[in-house]
Parts: sequence; C-alpha cells; structure tokens
Amino acid sequence: MALIVQKYGGTSVGSTDKIKAVARRVIECQKQGNQMVVVLSAMAGETDRLTAMANDIQKIPNLREMDMLLSTGEQVTIALFAMAVKEAGSDAISLLGDQVRIRTDRMHTRARIRDIDTTLLKKHLDAGRIVTVAGFQGVDDDGDITTLGRGGSDTTAVALAAALGADACEIFTDVEGVYTTDPNICSQARKIDHISYDEMLELASLGAKVLDIRSVGLAKRYNVPVHVRSTFSDNEGTWVVEEDRIMESMLVSGITYNRNEARITIKKVPDQPGIAAKIFLPISDAGILVDMIIQNTRDSHLTDMTFTVMRNDYARAMEIVKKVAEEIGAESVTGDESIVKVSIVGVGMRNHSGIASTMFQILAKEGINMMMVSTSEIKVSCIISEKYTELAVRALHDAFALDKDNVPLEEE
Ligand code: ADP
Ligand code: ASP
Ligand code: MG
Repeated sequence: MALIVQKYGGTSVGSTDKIKAVARRVIECQKQGNQMVVVLSAMAGETDRLTAMANDIQKIPNLREMDMLLSTGEQVTIALFAMAVKEAGSDAISLLGDQVRIRTDRMHTRARIRDIDTTLLKKHLDAGRIVTVAGFQGVDDDGDITTLGRGGSDTTAVALAAALGADACEIFTDVEGVYTTDPNICSQARKIDHISYDEMLELASLGAKVLDIRSVGLAKRYNVPVHVRSTFSDNEGTWVVEEDRIMESMLVSGITYNRNEARITIKKVPDQPGIAAKIFLPISDAGILVDMIIQNTRDSHLTDMTFTVMRNDYARAMEIVKKVAEEIGAESVTGDESIVKVSIVGVGMRNHSGIASTMFQILAKEGINMMMVSTSEIKVSCIISEKYTELAVRALHDAFALDKDNVPLEEE
C-alpha cells in the first residue's frame, strides 16, 4: 500500500463545488489502494482578504495576532473537505497544524518547521481515514500558532511527505506543471517535464510561485520526488527530481518575475566607512531581508544607497530607514512599490558569457529602463517598472527561444 501526500492550492478549493470535486478525486485515489494525506490551502483570495482586514486596523500588524488570523483560512477548507468526503461515503478527519504537532520556531508569519510528530497521522491512516491537514501553519514552543509565509502550504506538504516517508508528494494547482515562465502571462510558455531541485530552487527563489522555495529545499534535502500537476485534468505534470535523472540541460531554463519587491533609496548619505552597517543592521535586526543593494557615488563625500526589500516588509523597513537617515544626516528617503524583478535563470548559463548583454539589448529594444541589475553564475536579474512585467517576460522568453523543445546545451 502506497502513502501519498497531496496538496491542493487556493484555486483548487476556491468554492464548495471545487472542494467536492477534490474530495471525489482523493477518494478515488484511496480506493486504488493508497493511504491519503491531503494538505489544503485557504480558498483563493482568502489569505489576501484576511491580510487586508488586518492592515485596515494596524498599519504594521502585530505578528502573533496576524498568525492567529491567517491560520483561519485553512481551517475552513479542511473542515469543508472532511465533510465532503464523509458525505460521499468515505471517512476523513481534519487536523490543524497544532493538532498534528507541526512544531516550528517562533518567527511569526515566516516560521520554519522544526519537526513533525507523525503518531496521530499514522493512527488515523491505519484506521483507513483520509487525513486532511491545514497547510501553512504550525505551533511554536509556547503553544502559539505560527504560519510559514505566503505559499507555505507547499512546504507543509513536502515536510509531511518527508516525515511520513511518503511514496509521492503531489502538488495540485491551477496550471499543468512548471513552465518555462508563468503560462498566465506568456502564452508561449512551455511545460517542463522534469526539472532538477537546484533549478527549481532558483526559479522559485526568483518568483516562480508555482512552488514555494522552502518546499523545494526540503524536497531536495529529504529526496522527496515532487509532482506538480493540475487539479483540473489527469495529465502528467512536472517532476522535480535529482539532477542525474534528467537527460538534458538547458542554457536558460526559465524567465521569472517577482512583484513582491519594493525599492528604497536614501539620498546623499555621507560616504564613510561604517555607514552601510548603520543602515542595514537595524533592518536585519528587525528580521527584514534585503535583496539587491547598489550604491551610486555623487562626489567624494556623498553617495546614494538603493536597495530592495519584500513588499510586505516595505512599511516597516521605511520606518526604520527614515529614523537611521536622520541619525546619519542623509538628505532624504524615497521609495517605490511598483517595481518588479525580472530574471533569466539556468544552471547551463554557468559557462556562457553574453547572456546578460542579450537581456539588456532585449529590454532596451522594448524601451524598458533597468533600475538595478544583479547577476550570479546561473541568473541575471533586473529591476524594472512593474507596468512592463508582461512585455519584458514575453520579449525575453521569445529572445531565448524557450518555446522551442529542449535546446540542448552545447559543450564549450
Ligand atoms: P496554488 O494556489 O495552487 O498554490 P499558486 O498561485 O501559488 O497556486 O501557484 C500557481 C501559479 O504560479 C500559476 O497560476 C501561475 O500563474 C504561477 N506561475 C509563476 N511562474 C510559473 C511557472 N514558471 N510555471 C507555472 N506556473 C507559474
Ligand atoms: N493560504 C496561504 C497563502 O495564500 C498559504 C498557501 O496557499 O500556500 O499564501
Ligand atoms: Mg502556492
């Protein structure tokens, strides 16, 4: 008998009819002789709705209470799903993260899973029940509810698959798998049949939200093969597996965009040793991640410092930076939330030059201004105005011929 962990995302459980359809699908899979653990997200739009309500009350919401609030979305779907399974004549039980004992650290709204107790899960599975677990949530050592960060239900699913030694982890979503870019903004996007953990990590870290980055990290660490596929069809999706199981390597594997960034610029900062530390220390102390940083020298004494943070950290980061700017005698602080980071990604880029310059040429041809650039061996990222997202993604996808079937990598 195989043990399968399945996760259904927000659009897959976006209405009671959809929840009933998911229940039928899961029951079918159980009847084929499998033990089933089903991780669910909140209904589509629900986590955003809850976040907006919190922001209406507190501009910078209390993080413990935020988790108390956000975790309710998943409680609704697992309860409805368990009812749907029972109504269809099978047995199911819904469990919150706390009940399963998905233990996390205390970092509210971005907690990391420490360990999972599988005793209760196994007991219910052995009794023949379909066990449905609330995604995205856990409990800390104080007994407080924590959440894992947006998109965190994928991580719950992979973590459960790893803890239970499941035979498969299937991530059901609203697209047919992982594509060369977001199929919802580029009709030429091509489905990838197999992708390595490393490449998927890179795509996810740069914005391909089809899989949460931490789920990919866990899958790699515990060697959990992940199958990303559609809730609305029976088609084979994308397998995320070890690299040596993949025959071909691509020069560029995908184009990503990340709208979840915001830019902050501190103008006319004294150009002295120690200033950068003064600016970035309080930011990191607040648990805020800084992504790109650039420094433009104005003259020998003054410099402008620009950096990006996650958009949901923007208000908190601005508050801190304004205080520091005053302390160090900088002229002003400006910010921009309508930016996007567009990246080209591929482990095959490692030994190839000219990828960045091709990217710059393509953006220039479309009249798109680059505000910031960063490169690594396997990616090039540009910050541009958010309004050009679709245009940039489509132009780059076309320029790197990603719609064509595997263009194998030539040896140098
Ligand atoms: P779920 O609610 O099922 O977790 P998400 O919205 O988190 O779904 O992720 C699926 C979405 O990811 C797709 O609808 C698609 O718009 C987006 N996406 C972004 N990049 C990619 C990509 N490279 N391949 C597939 N989907 C992508
Ligand atoms: N409901 C959470 C979110 O919208 C978690 C998830 O769907 O993965 O981010
Ligand atoms: Mg998701």
